[in-house]
Amino acid sequence: MGFEGFKFQMDEENLDDMYIRAVQEEYTKIDESWLNLHYKTSVILVVFSLLVEILMGAILVNSDMLTTTVSRYYIKFLIVPSAVNFLCIGIETLIMRSKSFSRSHKIYAVSIIFVGIGFVLFTVHSTFTATYYIFAIAIMLTAIYADYRVTCITALTSISSIIISELFMEWDADKVSIFESTHRMGDFLISLFVLIAFSIACMAVIRFERKKNSAGIQKEIERQLLQQSVHMDEMTGVFNRKAFRDEMKYVEDTASDRSYILAIVDIDRFKNINDTWGHHVGDRCLMEFAKILKEFSLDMTPFRYGGDEFCLLFCDKSMEEAESICRSIQTRVNRLFFEEYPKLMLTASFGLAAISDQVDTVRLFIHADRALYEAKKVRNAIRVF
Ligand code: GH3
Ligand code: MG
Repeated sequence: MGFEGFKFQMDEENLDDMYIRAVQEEYTKIDESWLNLHYKTSVILVVFSLLVEILMGAILVNSDMLTTTVSRYYIKFLIVPSAVNFLCIGIETLIMRSKSFSRSHKIYAVSIIFVGIGFVLFTVHSTFTATYYIFAIAIMLTAIYADYRVTCITALTSISSIIISELFMEWDADKVSIFESTHRMGDFLISLFVLIAFSIACMAVIRFERKKNSAGIQKEIERQLLQQSVHMDEMTGVFNRKAFRDEMKYVEDTASDRSYILAIVDIDRFKNINDTWGHHVGDRCLMEFAKILKEFSLDMTPFRYGGDEFCLLFCDKSMEEAESICRSIQTRVNRLFFEEYPKLMLTASFGLAAISDQVDTVRLFIHADRALYEAKKVRNAIRVF
């Protein structure tokens, strides 16, 4: 369990913030590794298309299907498009390696450069309408970021690329204009329709993915709050007896090489306070007492064991240090002043014990309790077993 790092600042809002921040950090890490994969995919696409061009070129050159000269074919379909695409990859690599671009800028750059590579391949091979699938891949790859704007911008640039390429680019002499062939026009409209539908589907995926994530976060916060309330003493806001038991079990189970000191603190003549000023004043005293203990929670972990009895667990502190901290607490308690009850004075007795070689927390408690028994003989005292 380990309550030792817990510093009593976790009201509901803090826990929400803390948890959301932790989840966001986790998402950032996932985004970063996806961004790397996204970048590598664009490099693979460029290298793969170069290999396909070389293969296709070899097949075409050795066949009678070539409608242009071999050198013109290589310049038009291999050298120029590959050079443009490698230039895109070069720019992308520079952006990815640069420290002056934020992660979000890099995401935009990689997404749009992917579309740019798609534009080159689509324009060069516009006789093969199926190449518009590259834009579908470009859009799909952005969905993991669960950012509407990135996907939306990628979708818009993809759709614009298809329109610009079909209307204004004439790279391939064999290309038939969409206005000259109903078949080509049909292909063009279908590809636009498919890309729009695909973009809407990606947006819907993002929407549901976001919903699923926030429901998961909410459930986790509720679970943590519930777990926290199970271990908290409602009135004083320090850990309760169950938390103390769990912590003792944790200390025993982990059997680490850390050293532990336990102090049992009991308010002196607390029954008198209840009898003289009433239970509500007794409660106030317990709250003020716990408030002082919380001030020292960087040095030890306080638990309310029950009634007016508290346990303080010191980790990796010497007995001298633990005693000195107890003395500071004692001084603070003695100085407590209640304006409405000027005669009310609080004192407490402390019994300390250190854990022995074999980690036995039952014995640790018995020893601290014996020391407390000794302290109670005089009261407002600190005794070490
Ligand atoms: P001693 O100096 O020997 O400790 O004397 P004491 O009067 O403090 O005796 P003890 O510690 O045994 O008494 C604890 C009392 O604390 C008994 C109980 O009535 C009272 N008490 C326990 N829980 C609460 C609480 O939540 N609120 C208030 N007001 N009193 C409580
Ligand atoms: Mg008492």
